[in-house]
Amino acid sequence: MLLPFFMVMLHQSVPAEAQSATTAEPPIIDPGPAGGPPSDAIVLFNGKDLSQWKSASGGEARWKVENGVMEVTSTGNIVSKEEFGDVQVHVEWASPSEVKGEGQGRGNSGVYLQGRYEIQVLDSYENKTYPNGQAAALYGVAAPLVNACRRPGQWQSYDIIFHPPRPSPDGKMQPGSVTVLHNGVLVQDHTAVKGEATTAASFQGAVAKGPLVLQDHGNPVRYRNIWVRRL
Ligand code: MG
Repeated sequence: MLLPFFMVMLHQSVPAEAQSATTAEPPIIDPGPAGGPPSDAIVLFNGKDLSQWKSASGGEARWKVENGVMEVTSTGNIVSKEEFGDVQVHVEWASPSEVKGEGQGRGNSGVYLQGRYEIQVLDSYENKTYPNGQAAALYGVAAPLVNACRRPGQWQSYDIIFHPPRPSPDGKMQPGSVTVLHNGVLVQDHTAVKGEATTAASFQGAVAKGPLVLQDHGNPVRYRNIWVRRL
């Protein structure tokens, strides 16, 4: 049967468009074991050394590395040598099993995106503080959707997807976003990152790239299995 011309066009064009949208075959990667790292990740800490890090105050990172784990040692923040823009971050951390202090003084550390936007690390297990300062908060800006904290001393994970704010052509800021899973649970859902730094430091405005920074808040928080993927 002969179809009218427009029906033939419709019949041909729709599948062709659908096909062109999927022409580029996604790269094949090895996701690795549960918790990664996947084969296309940049591993920032594999349990052996701090070669991917430096001290925020200059020189080598001086946190303790033992039994595959790094631990805060009151020697200051540590800073990744590489810098990142759009990025996926996996971090595992544990607050001290011996509970000391309360509120912001218990198991406090932090993961700073671009060195300026802190995803709070805190022992928030039965430990009250202000909501936008508890574990998995975008510090000072956004409380987590739920408190998914494990008990003190237990390993926990953050999986973070970060898109930094960008300068826009009109001179204003185009907000970025951060999404965080805490122990696999969604706690920040595309939260706006408007370019106001969450640090006391005078970081304001958009930057294309910045380091990952881990905070020394004077509590012996431990970290392991840290990797990132550029997006
Ligand atoms: Mg902190």
